[in-house]
Amino acid sequence: ASGGALPALTVKLCAPRGFCAGVDRAIQIVELALEKYGRPVYVRHEIVHNRFVVDGLKAKGAVFVEELDEIPDADRGRPVIFSAHGVPKAVPEDARLRNMFYLDATCPLVSKVHKEAEIHFRRDREILLIGHAGHPEVIGTMGQLPAGSVTLIETEADARAYRPKSGRQLAFITQTTLSVDDTRSIVDVLKQRFPDIVAPHKEDICYATTNRQEAVKAVAPSVDAMIVVGAPNSSNSQRLREVAERAGCPKAVLLQRAAEIDWTDFDGIGSLGLTAGASAPETLVEEIIAAFAHRFDVTVETVRTADETIAFNLPRELRGTADAPG
Ligand code: SF4
Repeated sequence: ASGGALPALTVKLCAPRGFCAGVDRAIQIVELALEKYGRPVYVRHEIVHNRFVVDGLKAKGAVFVEELDEIPDADRGRPVIFSAHGVPKAVPEDARLRNMFYLDATCPLVSKVHKEAEIHFRRDREILLIGHAGHPEVIGTMGQLPAGSVTLIETEADARAYRPKSGRQLAFITQTTLSVDDTRSIVDVLKQRFPDIVAPHKEDICYATTNRQEAVKAVAPSVDAMIVVGAPNSSNSQRLREVAERAGCPKAVLLQRAAEIDWTDFDGIGSLGLTAGASAPETLVEEIIAAFAHRFDVTVETVRTADETIAFNLPRELRGTADAPG
């Protein structure tokens, strides 16, 4: 805290916030691959949706591409890593055809949804995916099955309008980073219309998404404004901003760095909620607090609604001593 002339500000820090186990694992995969195989290591799509993370890895020798055909022929022997969001089946197939060595950083909780989709398909079910069109995870999940096998449901209205294509049993799966509340409403519509629809055993929305939204709900009603640190293309970060707004916070903004703060948004506030999406590093949260500490006499309070202990195994190739590429 700084001198007496500054206005007092209580920063309520949501916990859990920031990195989840899937993001942590994905970044570790890139770092360990760079250590083990040297540079360059290619990464298909932003490993996680955060520019700061991506730039940090670029500086260490990671090269980001959107598609495998952007990798120069001369570098075909270099490792390529698939992002945490998952990829359509065609991508690893293509990598094998090109004789590429790949490492899959798909979050195990996304892979779990891929497996559910395959089981439904094998059982000849008509499959609905609740999610957002165009998000890489949705593209990856739909791409586990032949085109046309999965129908995307984005809204309650989509759920109400859905007409089964066949007399086959219906099943639904979801994206991992959705709004818990919106998804519940969509699922309620589906269950009401199709009481026999097969649901996931345990929710597809992941623990990290659920916990971060819970923490925001606990803080948002009692603060004058809320900042979510995260990227505009990060689904779970966008959802956190919406959750804050719906929980009654008068002003909820998503920002990537302290430099983006529009100080007129925070004029005269006495309390600020602060959280970070699953792909945003803690150092960016600290940067935001430091920026506020220049203008306010800041007191930081943590509001914890859950403890997280989950961690995922690394791919076999990167555990201890292992195989060479190829
Ligand atoms: Fe995995 Fe959830 Fe993190 Fe996505 S947000 S990487 S599904 S743990």
